[in-house]
Amino acid sequence: MSDTVRYTLSDEEMPTAWYNIVPDLPAPPPPPLHPGTHEPIGPDDLAPLFPMDLIMQEVSQDQYVDIPGEVLDVYRLWRATPLHRARRLEKALGTPAKIYYKYEGVSPAGSHKPNTAVPQAYYNAKAGVKKLTTETGAGQWGTALSFACAQFGIECEIWQVRASYDQKPYRRAMMEAFGGTVHPSPSDVTNYGRQLLAENPDNPGSLGIAITEAVEVAAQDPNIRYALGSVLNHVLMHQTVIGEEAILQMAKAGDTPDLIVGCTGGGSNFAGLAFPFLREKLAGRMNPIIRAVEPASCPSLTKGVYTYDFGDTGGMTPLVKMHTLGHDFIPDPIHAGGLRYHGMAPLISHIYDLGLIEASSKPQSECFAAGVQFARTEGIVPAPEPTHALAVAIEEALACKESGEEKVILTALCGHGMLDMAAYTAYFEGQLEDYDYPEAKVAEAMANIPQV
Ligand SMILES: *Cc1c(COP(=O)(O)O)cnc(C)c1O
Repeated sequence: MSDTVRYTLSDEEMPTAWYNIVPDLPAPPPPPLHPGTHEPIGPDDLAPLFPMDLIMQEVSQDQYVDIPGEVLDVYRLWRATPLHRARRLEKALGTPAKIYYKYEGVSPAGSHKPNTAVPQAYYNAKAGVKKLTTETGAGQWGTALSFACAQFGIECEIWQVRASYDQKPYRRAMMEAFGGTVHPSPSDVTNYGRQLLAENPDNPGSLGIAITEAVEVAAQDPNIRYALGSVLNHVLMHQTVIGEEAILQMAKAGDTPDLIVGCTGGGSNFAGLAFPFLREKLAGRMNPIIRAVEPASCPSLTKGVYTYDFGDTGGMTPLVKMHTLGHDFIPDPIHAGGLRYHGMAPLISHIYDLGLIEASSKPQSECFAAGVQFARTEGIVPAPEPTHALAVAIEEALACKESGEEKVILTALCGHGMLDMAAYTAYFEGQLEDYDYPEAKVAEAMANIPQV
């Protein structure tokens, strides 16, 4: 047995195409609908928001899409990301299980988000777009898009959920360092923001509100387009570089995963790791169990309803069929900011509905305990989001200790926690509260979703 803990890839070995799972699925995903007519939308309906290259990727039936050379050049600043075997964590747990993690925290933003920010900025710049608008919660996506826009010489304007804007000044500074302009949301620079502030000047904001603001600004100017950091098909597809690299690296390690776990907010890092492995599973070449883990306080897959809903709070986006807690969901202020979204990616919702993946939820205190154990053994302080997947990986590894099973577990460590230390401080001071989202609130929110 070798003691290797870190598997890398050379530039020559790096994948050169993104994987689109849609043509490989046993049934096609339900189409997005026009918010007014409730008829399926076509590429032209999305043209005010996105450049045609990305729209074509959104509706693509091709199994692979080549990664443009200019995008690969930027990816090479930090890709391929390392795959680690968590030998020290395994030892501390006393488990016969093998735990692998694919570490995305080495990127310029410290998370997986640049994997899609870079191609999105590239295709927009290529189409002559001058500025991208977007929303951000904790600030990971805004950081990634600011960096990506700087690479291709376009502007970036960001609406950051007010609660995070106030709590996380370093993320804002990082967005500004990469050249982005940041507004707290709701803001006084959009009609929707002004309307909300008139009703309540202390509105803490939500991702759904920030999306409405960013979309409002993009829809008004042909030189401005909008970029979304998760949820959409093309975003999930860009993230598959994670899983494609991991397949090559697991082969170097000489193992195939029995269990793949990832945290899900909108679902992009999970899809990025899992979809290439799901392709292998559907083709009968591997048989991993694939499980999404979400916060108990924002359980869109495990407690949400699978139905058509808006992607934003203001009701400006197309209707998409997804597991949703209702578009007017106001999340509990848990610390895994990246996981506080009311819906789940339509593609993941569909695949879950087909029974191809599992889902479970975890309360945040158990997640932080897992994050601390990971930091003390592996030397990386994880972002609060991936600690949800680590909590499950540790639980499974401990179950293997009982059963003696040498299970191979693979997880995405999708970001580091260096700008989330206030959350760790709250945990150390015993100030974190666990919160189970009540079924009754889901039922209540369903009264406000559009009838299709
Ligand atoms: C944004 C983010 C998430 C949640 O988004 P997904 O689309 O579900 O991946 C999770 N972890 C980190 C570190 C993030 O930045």
